[in-house]
Amino acid sequence: MSRFWSPVVETLTPYVPGEQPQMQRLVKLNTNESPYGPSPKALAAIQNQTTEDLRLYPDPESNLLKAAIAKLHGLNTNQVFVGNGSDEVLAHIFLALFKQKAPILFPDITYSFYPVYCKLYGIEYQTIPLGPQFEINTASYQIPNGGIIFPNPNAPTGRSIPRIEIETLLGKNRDSVLVIDEAYVDYGTESSIPLLRGPICPENLLVVHTLSKSRALAGLRVGFAVGHPDLIAGLERVKNSFNSYPLGQLAQAGALAAIEDQAYLERTCAKVMQTREQLIKALSDLGFETLPSSANFILTRHPKSAGEKLYQELRERGIIVRHFKNPRITEFLRITIGTDEQSQKLLKVLQEILN
Ligand SMILES: *Cc1c(COP(=O)(O)O)cnc(C)c1O
Repeated sequence: MSRFWSPVVETLTPYVPGEQPQMQRLVKLNTNESPYGPSPKALAAIQNQTTEDLRLYPDPESNLLKAAIAKLHGLNTNQVFVGNGSDEVLAHIFLALFKQKAPILFPDITYSFYPVYCKLYGIEYQTIPLGPQFEINTASYQIPNGGIIFPNPNAPTGRSIPRIEIETLLGKNRDSVLVIDEAYVDYGTESSIPLLRGPICPENLLVVHTLSKSRALAGLRVGFAVGHPDLIAGLERVKNSFNSYPLGQLAQAGALAAIEDQAYLERTCAKVMQTREQLIKALSDLGFETLPSSANFILTRHPKSAGEKLYQELRERGIIVRHFKNPRITEFLRITIGTDEQSQKLLKVLQEILN
């Protein structure tokens, strides 16, 4: 506390990210990073960009990167907005599109950054409870002159909904912007991006992606949003009132090469999905109940062992997972899918703890 703080600072409830421990040799399964490195082409592009040209400002519009994203997804360049991680993209979305007459809606269990942005920008929100199987019930989302946001698949549940439901939801909410946060879409969920293609792009749908998860570039900080050009233009106005250069030269070059290496993405995601299904099965043999997951993490509980206690015991044995205090999921652990070796280690340690 300082008496020099602007009054708003005291009222904030900052987001607490999963820890990035400095200790070596930990099995780190807590923040949904990829266990495989980025595309080698991305690493090479970053190295090639490491020249004396770093004295120059980067392209403020990241035009080459936007063009590559547009090409990959069958969109026009004016439908693409890029930022310093999708968290920054989301922050700009909240300010540019969600400060409306009516509140915004999101699930009671979801990405915990959403209420943080609401506090920061003074945005009213209402949470809609997930169903008994932790599913998003799209029928409950209807709000004129407000906004709607959720991840698909949802985090930290991993449960996804098909594109047809998004399309229906969009039709029922013509007077609010619908934002689908597709941070984990590459692990087996239908993207909503095809709804944005062609001459009649809906005017109220934005889809947000990150390069931090499936493209294994969390350390580079790149995310993007795609949608109607008029929504994108609003985001550009906020961005250019905040930081004209959110992406450095290295980030632009690395992200461009990663976006172009679709084969590497598909290979590594297929491997993660295979490991996920094997892990769910092996955990079930140990008595764990796991929600079906379309993400690179699972939400799982053991009927005889409290979530917090398991979390602590794993930690003492060098395995870091995530535990949430939200009462509806406090019995659960969220475990990032790592390599097969990391899965084996996790299963071995869990077996020791349970015995
Ligand atoms: C990880 C994550 C993000 C943030 O990703 P960055 O691009 O690293 O900022 C956004 N939304 C959800 C649901 C996430 O899990």
